[in-house]
Amino acid sequence: MKIITDVKNFQTMAHKERAKGKKTALVPTMGFFHEGHLSLIRYAKKQADTVYVSLFVNPTQFGPNEDLDTYPRDEARDKTLAKEAGADVLFCPDKSSIYAPDHGTWVEVPTLARHLCGKSRPAFFRGVATVCSILFNLALPQIAVFGEKDWQQLTLIRKLIRDMHLPVEIKSCPIVREADGLAMSSRNACLTQKERTIAPFLYKGLLYAEELAKTGMQETSALQDALTAFYSQYMPHGELDYADFMNPQTISPVKKVSGPVLVAVAMKLGKTRLIDNIII
Ligand code: AMP
Repeated sequence: MKIITDVKNFQTMAHKERAKGKKTALVPTMGFFHEGHLSLIRYAKKQADTVYVSLFVNPTQFGPNEDLDTYPRDEARDKTLAKEAGADVLFCPDKSSIYAPDHGTWVEVPTLARHLCGKSRPAFFRGVATVCSILFNLALPQIAVFGEKDWQQLTLIRKLIRDMHLPVEIKSCPIVREADGLAMSSRNACLTQKERTIAPFLYKGLLYAEELAKTGMQETSALQDALTAFYSQYMPHGELDYADFMNPQTISPVKKVSGPVLVAVAMKLGKTRLIDNIII
């Protein structure tokens, strides 16, 4: 596996791969790899000849009071894991090579960023859409692979690709969970022992909402009340940001469960913000 830090070197290498007729796939990440990331890399390897994994803790998607400085990092371990999972190139640029000091171009998909994480993290999706556009331009991949754990992000990237007519096919992989159901996340490493024991209730709440819907509760206002009550009971110290019922494509609220519905939650446990979702 090649490790490239220089933006121009990465772009030149990617152009050469395309010129050779290789099918290439990009897996954008912020590192501190777990099985969720590795599942995307393994999947990409099945789809393409050459797999690029980017490892970049993108500063523009963090708000001023968020965890950019404390975001977990372990580049040495990530290198080993990415190689084992089948990455051909690990692209680890530094902040200043991606963003010029007077960087001034932003990519936004406002219609998909109105709710859920876009509401509580106003700069987040602008940062995500911008860095992904930069990475697509550098890597020129035929395929880019994203996780369903970040459903809103996945939906937004699909729209960005379609609206901008970018020649990239977006593929998604299911959420990888710990044995107790907690969705894997780099941020799980920041949980205290006590928080870690409570964290699986986030997913249990989603399953509870799914069960209620299956047994006839169709109104999302009633489901939301029940889910919120569940979290108050089982995660009383958690600070619930949202527990919402959305159309999975438009990321807008739905009133009734009459087709596929995205149930998405975000909760802060101590200093750590966790998200999860299911489609019911
Ligand atoms: P991150 O490094 O957290 O920005 O995530 C990089 C990619 O990995 C994104 O496409 C995420 O959706 C995906 N990802 C993160 N956690 C998981 C998980 N538990 N299961 C599947 N994909 C994941």
